[in-house]
Amino acid sequence: MGNKGRYGRFGGQYVPETLMPPLIALEEAYDRVSRDRSFITKLETYQREYAGRPTPLTYCENTSRELGCRVYLKREDLLHGGAHKLNNTLGQALLAKYMGKERIIAETGAGQHGVATAIAGALLGIPVEVYMGSEDVRRQALNVERMNLLGARVLPVEGGSRTLKDAVNEALRDWAANVYSTHYLIGSIVGPHPYPRIVRDFQAVIGREARAQVLAKEGRLPDAVVACVGGGSNAIGIFSAFESDPGVRLIGVEAGGTGERAGEHSATLCLGSEGVLHGALSLLLQDVHGQIEATHSVAAGLDYPGVGPELAYHASLGRIETATVRDEEALAAFSFLARREGIIPALESSHAIAHARKVAPELGRDGVLVINLSGRGDKDAGEVMARGGGNL
Ligand SMILES: *Cc1c(COP(=O)(O)O)cnc(C)c1O
Repeated sequence: MGNKGRYGRFGGQYVPETLMPPLIALEEAYDRVSRDRSFITKLETYQREYAGRPTPLTYCENTSRELGCRVYLKREDLLHGGAHKLNNTLGQALLAKYMGKERIIAETGAGQHGVATAIAGALLGIPVEVYMGSEDVRRQALNVERMNLLGARVLPVEGGSRTLKDAVNEALRDWAANVYSTHYLIGSIVGPHPYPRIVRDFQAVIGREARAQVLAKEGRLPDAVVACVGGGSNAIGIFSAFESDPGVRLIGVEAGGTGERAGEHSATLCLGSEGVLHGALSLLLQDVHGQIEATHSVAAGLDYPGVGPELAYHASLGRIETATVRDEEALAAFSFLARREGIIPALESSHAIAHARKVAPELGRDGVLVINLSGRGDKDAGEVMARGGGNL
C-alpha cells in the first residue's frame, strides 16, 4: 500500500487478510463517490435540510468579558442528534447506499455513535445493528432505548470487559463474515485505512464552516482552536481547516480523569505509547505486555484507550498541542458555560471549555479563541447533578 493510509509511521492496515478485500473495495467506492456530483449534492442537501448545517459560530459576550479574550463556540451541539457524530454517520450511510449494502453494523460505547448511526440508517432506509458491551448496555439504558425507537437492533457483547473495545472486536468479526452485504460504520478517526481518512473528510465540514465564519466576523484567523479528544474526530474535523496556518494554535484536550495512574484517565496522546489497536498503529494505553489498560473519564465519549493515527502524527510533530483536563475541572466548566451563556455543553466538550479557560489569559484582549462545542449536555444532566452540580 506504499504510503497510503500512513501518517508518518502511524496508521496502516493491521488486519487479518480476510478484511483486505472489503477495505480495498471501500477505498475504491469512497474515491468514486468523492468525485460523484450526485453523491456530493445529496450529502450537502441532507446536511442542510435534515441535519441543520451550517451550524452557527457564536460569539460569547459574557465568557469573553470574564476570560479576557474574544471567545467563539462552534455549535455542533445544534446539529440534529445533539453532537457532531451525525456528520460522519450521514456520510458513511450514504456511501453504504451507493455501494449497494443492505445492512449497516456499528459499535458503540456510551451509545452516542449507535444513536447517530440509527438516525442515518432510518433516514436512508438501511437496517442497523449495533454491537455494545453488556456493561455499557446496562449503564447507557437511555441510548439503548433511543436506538430501539429508531428501529436499530442492539447486540449486547458478553466478552472481555464488556465495554467498547470488546464491541469493536465483535463488529470486526461480523464484518469479516458478512462483507458483501454489510457496511461497518466506524465512529471516529480510528481503525484501519481508509477509515481515518473517510471520517476526517466527513467531519472536515466543521472546520470549513468555522474558518469562513471567523474570517467573516473578525477579518482574521483565530489565535487558537480548542477541541476535546476521544478518538479524535471532532478535533480533526475543526483542526483540518487550519493545519496549514502556522499562526493558529491547535489544542487537543484529553480526559485527565482522576489521576495519571493506569485506569484513572483516558489521556492517550499525553500518556500513551505506540502500539496496534483495531487495525492501526497509533498511540494507546497499554501495559508492558501490550495489554489494553482500563480507562476512565466522567465523559463517556472520551473513555477510549486509543486515538486516531493522524492526531498521533500531528502531536508527534508538535503541530497539535495536547493537554489534559480532570473530571472536576470539566464538571466546573459544564456549570460555567450553562450559567454564563445559557448553553449546556456535553461533558466531553466541557473538557475543551475547561482548558480554554486556562489558555485565554495567554491571548490578550484582542486574542481570538474558537472552542469546538462538540455536543449538548442534556444527556449528562443526571451525572452532573449526582456529583453536586459541578463546582463553580
Ligand atoms: C463521541 C463524542 C466525542 C468524542 O469523539 P471524538 O471522535 O474524539 O470527537 C466528543 N464529544 C461528543 C459530544 C461526543 O458525543
